[in-house]
Amino acid sequence: MGATIGIDLGTTNSCMAAMEGGRVTIIPNAEGERTTPSVVAFSKEGERLVGSIAQRQAVVNPDRTISSVKRHMGSKWKTRVDGKSFTPQEISAMILRKMRRDAEQYLGRDVTDAVITVPAYFDDSQRQATKDAGRIAGLNVLRIINEPTSAALAYGLDNGTPQKVMVYDLGGGTFDVSIIEIGDDVIEVLATSGDNHLGGDDFDERLVDHIVQEFKREQGEDLHRNAMAMQRVMEAAEQAKKELSAGFSTQINLPFISQNSQGPVHLDMTVTRAEFEQMTRDLVERTTAPVRMALDDAGIASSELGCVLLVGGSTRIPAVQEHVRRITGKEPSASVNPDECVATGAAIQGDTLSGATTGIVRSNSLLLLDVTPLSLSIETVGGVATRLVERNSTLPVHYSKTFSTAASFQTSVEIKVLQGERPMAKDNKAIGTFRLKGIKRAPAGVPQIEVTFDIDANGILTVSAKDLDTGKEQSITIDDSDRMSDDEVQQAINDAEEYAEEDEFRRATMEVRQRAEKLLSEVDSALSAAGKQLEKSEKKQVKADAAELRRVLMRRPSKKERADPEEEGRRIVVAAEKLDRSSARLRELVAQQQSS
Ligand code: AMP
Repeated sequence: MGATIGIDLGTTNSCMAAMEGGRVTIIPNAEGERTTPSVVAFSKEGERLVGSIAQRQAVVNPDRTISSVKRHMGSKWKTRVDGKSFTPQEISAMILRKMRRDAEQYLGRDVTDAVITVPAYFDDSQRQATKDAGRIAGLNVLRIINEPTSAALAYGLDNGTPQKVMVYDLGGGTFDVSIIEIGDDVIEVLATSGDNHLGGDDFDERLVDHIVQEFKREQGEDLHRNAMAMQRVMEAAEQAKKELSAGFSTQINLPFISQNSQGPVHLDMTVTRAEFEQMTRDLVERTTAPVRMALDDAGIASSELGCVLLVGGSTRIPAVQEHVRRITGKEPSASVNPDECVATGAAIQGDTLSGATTGIVRSNSLLLLDVTPLSLSIETVGGVATRLVERNSTLPVHYSKTFSTAASFQTSVEIKVLQGERPMAKDNKAIGTFRLKGIKRAPAGVPQIEVTFDIDANGILTVSAKDLDTGKEQSITIDDSDRMSDDEVQQAINDAEEYAEEDEFRRATMEVRQRAEKLLSEVDSALSAAGKQLEKSEKKQVKADAAELRRVLMRRPSKKERADPEEEGRRIVVAAEKLDRSSARLRELVAQQQSS
């Protein structure tokens, strides 16, 4: 039997977990990282890159790098690369495919099933698109569950006290807050709220702006014009942000960031936690309104909360924790690992659904009750959105309401299904339209048309209609152009299969490339730290070998290499080995400096 994994398919990072021997294990990716950047890139040579490899080249290859694709899920957004267009589902499937493959390598067996998490605010088409992405990646998606519910599930493992809990989830690109009731055997989401456009990326951006401005003030140069430099600044900013979660100040040091008439220019600055807090205060404040809304929707005061769970890497920021403390009056819980608990909960749920016996006492009896993230309505006379299902109704939902005709002798009606909180139909999202035909001819208001909304445990909606006058059920079609047809999904699965072998091969070349880039950056730093201690000729050799390796990495593949892609890897290895040899003493000097 194939394995089941839980996947937190995040906006910036994704994480996966599985039950092994009765315990949840976070599955590291092939690069050994516990989370995988949700980034896909198409190199100039047509390679498909996923994860850190894609992220590291993002700034220098922006037109062919796709990050935060989750923000486009369920929309008609498409990206065109080399004449082929890709939907958000297909891009997400590339991420899921890598995760599946890495999990198979780690677990040593096939991975066939998955539970995938989505933000609580995702609407029907976004959930459906996520499910399609899983299918394209060759996964049987057992269930789509809300991220905060999943986190609560992870928490439920070791906490059986019945209580109401707030899950405050600030990740890389989204913010969700949920009020959850944890009972003996039930976890029920009472209310959810959030902001789909707020996360750690925004904090990074503030630091990047600060670094670029300071550099311009000191050196007079605008780094925005230098893509390579911006890539390094962005990586350094995220690193600095993380360091400021632990320390009160951090040093940002980027040697050889650019070049001017006097020679190379280095970036070296200190950022304090106080400065960082000053530049991001408004971002932290933006989480207040959704928190209040969730509490209001759940009908409770913050004093009634048993505890507050922090989820998402950005909740490691001390100012965020302090803010949560201030607005809820509670000490946030630190017992759930914020980066990993969503995937952990998904693995627990996956284990329950796949019927595996794990020894987790409560998992088989644990009942999950999710809620509808947004209200569901149909358009009625005058463009009004008439609500059938309220926001935050517990799933599964089955609700019927009887409508009639607006004009006399009308034999068909068009029913427009809407999702959203606005009173007028045009302000909500139209998620499907169907026409009920064959209504008995009668004056306006006489025919009885029963409209039924069914939402299953995955939050996926089916709408049906019945003419009560004739008693006959009408067949209806939901015209949801946001969804991919089965044919389209199949086509995408075929495409993904077709690329699998090539992707695998390209990955090997990319690993060689990655190691070479790491060596180059080590040598650059070593040259500035200990270059003076080298003989002139020795230093010249190191510089020449570094320049050669850089040239090999940057050059476009020749006709011969395109015919034999292994050739590219071989060239990189040769140049890297040369630099490795000539810079060995230099790197040793740096190691001695560091240990003394
Ligand atoms: P997630 O989506 O939960 O993986 O969260 C990812 C976000 O958390 C990214 O923006 C990371 O930069 C951020 N993050 C991870 N670790 C830390 C940390 N120690 N301090 C501040 N932010 C962090």
